[in-house]
Amino acid sequence: MQMSNAPEQVPELITHYIGGEHVPSAGGQTFGVLDPATNTEYTRAAAGQAADVDRAVAAAAEAFRESGWADMRNRARAGVLNRIADGIEARGEQIARWESFDTGLPISQVEQQAKRAAENFRFFADLIVVQTEEAYRVADVQLNYVVRKPKGVAGLITPWNTPFMLESWKLAPALASGCTVVLKPAEWSPLSVSLLPEIFAEAGVPAGVFNIVHGIGEQAGDALVRHPDVPVLSFTGETATGQVIMRNAADGLKGLSMELGGKSPNIIFADADLDAALDSAIFGVFSLNGERCTAGSRVLVHRSIYADFVRQLGKRAARFKVGPPGDRSTELGALIHPEHFDKVIGHVAKAEAEGARLVTGGKRPDHLPDGNFLEPTVFADVTPEHTLFREEVFGPVVAVTPFDDEAEAVRLANDTKYGLAAYVWTNDLKRGLRVANQVEAGMLWLNSHNIRDLRTPFGGIKASGVGHEGGTRSIDFYTDQRIVHAWIADGGLPRFGGTS
Ligand code: NAD
Repeated sequence: MQMSNAPEQVPELITHYIGGEHVPSAGGQTFGVLDPATNTEYTRAAAGQAADVDRAVAAAAEAFRESGWADMRNRARAGVLNRIADGIEARGEQIARWESFDTGLPISQVEQQAKRAAENFRFFADLIVVQTEEAYRVADVQLNYVVRKPKGVAGLITPWNTPFMLESWKLAPALASGCTVVLKPAEWSPLSVSLLPEIFAEAGVPAGVFNIVHGIGEQAGDALVRHPDVPVLSFTGETATGQVIMRNAADGLKGLSMELGGKSPNIIFADADLDAALDSAIFGVFSLNGERCTAGSRVLVHRSIYADFVRQLGKRAARFKVGPPGDRSTELGALIHPEHFDKVIGHVAKAEAEGARLVTGGKRPDHLPDGNFLEPTVFADVTPEHTLFREEVFGPVVAVTPFDDEAEAVRLANDTKYGLAAYVWTNDLKRGLRVANQVEAGMLWLNSHNIRDLRTPFGGIKASGVGHEGGTRSIDFYTDQRIVHAWIADGGLPRFGGTS
């Protein structure tokens, strides 16, 4: 096994974490983990099977009943979450180094993700401290009040793009709500999460409250989805996987939160601040290696500025620094896995074959003969008939399409099965707000790149998601809201059979 490039202290086997113990798979199964910059196997991870998921769910169920986590005062639970955030911040550099090495994401961009992960814990700590429960009084007759209860063992299934941040995005609200959890991280990026057990234990999370089962989606993930003692599942990943999970969860009538794929439009009108729009278009599709669910991967540009915009976009993309993920000057690192690299390259070949115009990129940089490196790729004159207009690439490949007027821009923006994010650039406020109302997307940014406010709804519509998390919605998802009706008047009930 080649270990030369791996950061220090990387475990030789990434184990499950069940009931407060680091454990291998009961049957001893493992899978190889690759370094995306060289595609060499640098370690192995435990490949969870149904028996491992059973153990983890049993530990989480016991902790839900007996550890005191579910019944803890919100203020005390918030204290634990804040200590988790402290632990993440204290290890921020190591998390970033491990994550960058494991995923191929540029180190400078991954550092932001570790900070966001800590912020997720702090945010949900704050939120539960100010959590209210509604009460409804009907004169002096009836008092009705809501009791929130955590749902139980939450199953969390996460993807490989920005894994640490996305894991925290589910862990923080689930734990804040009083649930106990079993996390199934993505098999292509199991490394950075292995720093969490120590952080959680130091923060005072009782054993069994937080469990990790690594493994292949169709094995460990599937067992978690079907487990009868897991009433609620939060999934982030591909739309096709989401459909499979919804089918498999149906028998258990599980609560589902589905954050799925996207093919988000970025609409640029001629009156926009074009420098800012160009910066944002580049950031939106090439940051995080283009492996970003909310990437503005279809740039729709008004025809009067189209030629110039395409030229500038191509020029900037061609100047990108593609390089080793751990190098601080790298702007685009290595795609996660050779299988994914082949899929992305396949999209490039298909776009060319279907007649889209390759402006720049489309191939491996000459100076990087190994690993999953691809030049930032710009296609122009992409039409709705091209596959590139419709299918999610999830890599550094952008499709640019001209439009003639506002109605056509909206039509093109909505001509997709997805509805995750959208971006609109114009200095005409009325038009901006009009278009924002008409574009079918769960999240829209007007004259802004993708900056989130954690209080707002997060999620897609159409094929991009089912259910929204974000702010109090996440707490709603992980808790049952029960209503207690109290009759406080004397009498008032109808009498049957009372006359003699
Ligand atoms: P994926 O669907 O292949 O895998 C996601 C997770 O599901 C992994 O942990 C995988 O092991 C597991 N899985 C796979 N098959 C399963 C099954 N049958 N049962 C249970 N679990 C199963 O997705 P990916 O390739 O890891 O991630 C990329 C996708 O995620 C893209 O489509 C991207 O748009 C999407 N994504 C969406 C958001 C969002 O918030 N909407 C955020 C990030 C990524």
